[in-house]
Amino acid sequence: MNVLQRLLSGGGVRVPHHKDTANYPTEHIPLPKKIVLPMSQHVGAPCEPCVKKGVRVYVGTMVGRAPSAMSMHIFSSVSGKVTAVEPILYKAGRGDMVVIIETDGLQTVDPSITPPDVHDRESFIAALEVSGIVGMGGAGFPTDIKVTPKNLSEIDTLIINGAECEPYLTTDNREFLECPDSILFGIRSCLKWLGIPSALICIEDNKPAAIDLMTRKTEKDPQISVKVLESRYPQGAQNVLIKNATGRIVPRGARHTSVGVMMLNVTTVSSIGKFLETGMPLVTKRLTVAGDAIENPKNLEVPIGVSIDDVVNYCGTTEEAGKIIIGGPMMGEAQMDVNYPITRQNNGVLVFGKKSSARPIATPCIRCGRCVNSCPMGLCPVDIRNAYVEHNAQELDRLMADLCIGCGTCSYVCPAKRPLAPTVTLAKTFLKTHSNREKR
Ligand code: SF4
Ligand code: SF4
Repeated sequence: MNVLQRLLSGGGVRVPHHKDTANYPTEHIPLPKKIVLPMSQHVGAPCEPCVKKGVRVYVGTMVGRAPSAMSMHIFSSVSGKVTAVEPILYKAGRGDMVVIIETDGLQTVDPSITPPDVHDRESFIAALEVSGIVGMGGAGFPTDIKVTPKNLSEIDTLIINGAECEPYLTTDNREFLECPDSILFGIRSCLKWLGIPSALICIEDNKPAAIDLMTRKTEKDPQISVKVLESRYPQGAQNVLIKNATGRIVPRGARHTSVGVMMLNVTTVSSIGKFLETGMPLVTKRLTVAGDAIENPKNLEVPIGVSIDDVVNYCGTTEEAGKIIIGGPMMGEAQMDVNYPITRQNNGVLVFGKKSSARPIATPCIRCGRCVNSCPMGLCPVDIRNAYVEHNAQELDRLMADLCIGCGTCSYVCPAKRPLAPTVTLAKTFLKTHSNREKR
């Protein structure tokens, strides 16, 4: 059985959902005293700060200008005064520039904010270029680039990714329940201006209220339908969702648009709808704050740039944190410093106590094959690990290590607690570096 056949046959794993906040309406936290806006909040080159210390800014004022198409402008989420534009050591040794703004408590909206004039495809794309919207599933890919693939005329399906398969996180679920009309306006705008015939709203079956609401709201719309999917991690991974929603398999090394689909996260498409209605660029973010050390788990809407500490303090803690994760427990990133700011790609803050976050001790592989059977991409993580240890690029290529999506399933299921996923990620990077060298 080859990799693509195995992908067709399933994989993935059932994980405990821990979605206790699914029915918690979104709350707003009190305005923080200051916000910190990193210039890297997307996949491309960092933005260039376009404000100076002492300047007054408003909600929606541009503070970081995108230097290239793969970047996205950054806007202030508060009104107040810029107190610093300075470098910081941000996230695991990476440097960045930040704009720090002291809030004035007034939340005055920038007077230049007006709904964009959208009347054709070009004006739609031009509007998205200044919307501040990037992929909200965590990728941070600029949305104006995402919706303009070279083969746009071949796209027949817009997939709305509302799977939200990571345990604990319920922000997309709340987006469905609290902003269904913005979601539908965003979808209809994309279909209309991009010329895509139909949309599939994909939701896991552990979100019955969202399924019911979106089904009722779309039953008379021949272009939009709801696709209910099994709750199985990582259902929301791009290639997995495309296969399960449409039966199409993205070939190795190809983009998902090559099989005629475009995929947008549900909060991304909702943000498009909100921006088209108001002209306010993306300045706030919904977060699920949960984990066994959080006293009052919540869904919060926060200004982008608020600190992790402000968010956690609002919800309270029951014990000293052993680990703080931004994102979900499977693919999220452990944080070194609670003063780090929330960025526009973030969708959760999870705080775990010392006991539950203790690192397991790895023991020798017992050749049980669970990592192989559960890999959603049909890979053989244990063999990839062995090839990486031997720095065998040819074998890594044969094992298709490049197809790994970093979902963490192999580590999760391994009874020997072997850290397979991080090793496969290293193997993937090694293979890429080696292939690039070969091409030179
Ligand atoms: S992390 Fe990579 S190798 Fe491991 S299960 Fe996920 S896709 Fe497969
Ligand atoms: S799941 Fe763990 S113990 Fe089982 S084959 Fe894979 S690496 Fe070995």
